[in-house]
Amino acid sequence: MLGTGTPIIDAAHSGNSVGVLVRGSLYIFDAGPGVERRMLEAVAKGVKIDTIPAVFITHLHSDHTLGLPALVYYHGRNAAFRGGGPLTVYGPPGIAAMMTHIDAAWADDRGARAGVRGGSPSWQVRGADVAAGIVYRDSNVVVKAFEVPHQPWPHAFGYRVETADRVIVISGDTKPSEAIARECAGCDVLVHEVYSAVGLPKAPPEMQRYHPTAHTSTYELAEIATKAKPKLLVLYHQLYLGGVSDDDLVREVQSRYNGRVVSAHDLDVY
Ligand SMILES: [Zn+2]
Ligand SMILES: [Zn+2]
Repeated sequence: MLGTGTPIIDAAHSGNSVGVLVRGSLYIFDAGPGVERRMLEAVAKGVKIDTIPAVFITHLHSDHTLGLPALVYYHGRNAAFRGGGPLTVYGPPGIAAMMTHIDAAWADDRGARAGVRGGSPSWQVRGADVAAGIVYRDSNVVVKAFEVPHQPWPHAFGYRVETADRVIVISGDTKPSEAIARECAGCDVLVHEVYSAVGLPKAPPEMQRYHPTAHTSTYELAEIATKAKPKLLVLYHQLYLGGVSDDDLVREVQSRYNGRVVSAHDLDVY
């Protein structure tokens, strides 16, 4: 977990990002603010990262994308992970334009640095707008994007990642969706966003109105997990509405669901 956060920032939850590590290749799903720091903290804890073949974005909300320029421009190991090559980013329509805008926004910085030490191919970006379906495949993974409902975005994705020995499903931000049970169907790990059903009535009125239209409550997630049957359910992008704790979130889900549930912390490994 490279970051379990939401737009409500705090020290413990860095910007939203999940890494799937297969034989030294790190596939990054969302790049919230701080992703480059958490990645290096993981390396400091002994995680071995050789390369970042691709980044996948669920939707264009800032808590999932603010780390992209840092992934492009931080030097040293960060660039080395990409073999010095461009950062390749897949996502729903709009991601290619976002990468083009990032490229334009830091043009003066590139010019200033190029004058000192020459240009770097690692500053290049490749953004690809993709439709739902298989969006990426190599010898380690098959990555499938599927549509989830996260208004007001016309397109938001969850991702199903298949490796040689595991299937991992990442919900992205979504209100309750049938797609999760269909894509997981007994998967090894389901990483799913959540807010507290118990805490919602204590949240500010605008949040009480918005969250049920765009996100998934603990009780709703319990119902989804009962159908999806993951071997492990990992809560992330936790919205601790009403000041609930991680234990409260797990308890709320488990009050209506019998499987294994954990509430993720940054840098946890599953
Ligand atoms: Zn979010
Ligand atoms: Zn969102």
